[in-house]
Amino acid sequence: MKILLTGGAGYIGSHTYLALIEAGHIPVILDDFSNSSPKVLERLGRISGQPVLCEQGNVADLPWVQALIQRHAIEAVIHFAAFKAVGESVAQPLKYFDNNLVGMTRLLQAMDATDCRTLVFSSSATVYGDPASVPITEDFPRSHTNPYGHTKLVIEDMLSALQKSNPAWKVAVLRYFNPVGAHPSGLIGEDPLGIPNNLMPFVAQVAVGKRPVLNVFGNDYATPDGTGVRDYIHVQDLAAGHVAALQTLAAKGESFTVNLGTGQGYSVLDVVHAFEKASARKVPVQFAPRREGDVAQCYASTARALALLGWQAKLDLDAMCTDSWRWQSGNPDGYS
Ligand code: UDP
Repeated sequence: MKILLTGGAGYIGSHTYLALIEAGHIPVILDDFSNSSPKVLERLGRISGQPVLCEQGNVADLPWVQALIQRHAIEAVIHFAAFKAVGESVAQPLKYFDNNLVGMTRLLQAMDATDCRTLVFSSSATVYGDPASVPITEDFPRSHTNPYGHTKLVIEDMLSALQKSNPAWKVAVLRYFNPVGAHPSGLIGEDPLGIPNNLMPFVAQVAVGKRPVLNVFGNDYATPDGTGVRDYIHVQDLAAGHVAALQTLAAKGESFTVNLGTGQGYSVLDVVHAFEKASARKVPVQFAPRREGDVAQCYASTARALALLGWQAKLDLDAMCTDSWRWQSGNPDGYS
């Protein structure tokens, strides 16, 4: 299939690009490089051994996207192009409403106008808010605690209204847990701008010596070691999950919502220790107050993903840390 990847130069998009090529699809990247580097394109070409199809521009540019879908005869879209920093969304909600909600609306209009109605959407476990229990199944109640999470929830609702209005829409909503790790080549990986918000890139920067110490946000949670527990999933497994979702949409023709996680919870200290082992470096930590909006534990039920997509995560925490370290140590300044 010929597939448009909005935000395809970003962290998850670039890994999914390679997984799609391996599965025999033809991905076309659409990116405005507002939160990614054009240098990733050369790396993707190097790994895949194929020229990279990329169109530079904004997903909200309706006539341009419409023309692009037609020009490339796009059959399905995977929509990664969105902002995802929780703290920034609290400080600048309009930026998030504009990019995430308006961007999604314009993309859907372009798809509708060109009769291209197959979509894979990047949602997030953030839509579960503070879950009453774990593991989390897809029918848990949804809520939000910040504008970023709110945009994911609103888009899920937009997509279900769209499907009701026209059954030709085939939509896979993928609720990601905590994507980490990097391609085993060490050539592509996560390259956060400024101070990383997320745990794994922060730990990697401490291990490589760019930052002196990790602040562990809270050690009094009701978890085995008191630190927050999350479901970390290797980005390579996540990429494979997108291929499986696309193939399921094409084969079964029915929309669905599914968790993409491992079903396994690890604490902040588990991650630190696994990273120390993978990197053979010390990661100094200090305990700090809880971060606002954080929950004690969050991990997925993976039963639906297995039953529906025939997909399950294969890579463990050691592989996540080893691959993350290979990327970080080989590219201490990311793509710059
Ligand atoms: N965390 C931490 N220090 C950091 C960043 C994160 O202790 O510098 C903790 C955070 O409190 C949470 C876990 O690591 O328990 C995962 O945080 P992350 O931001 O990566 O993901 P999310 O909170 O969105 O699940």
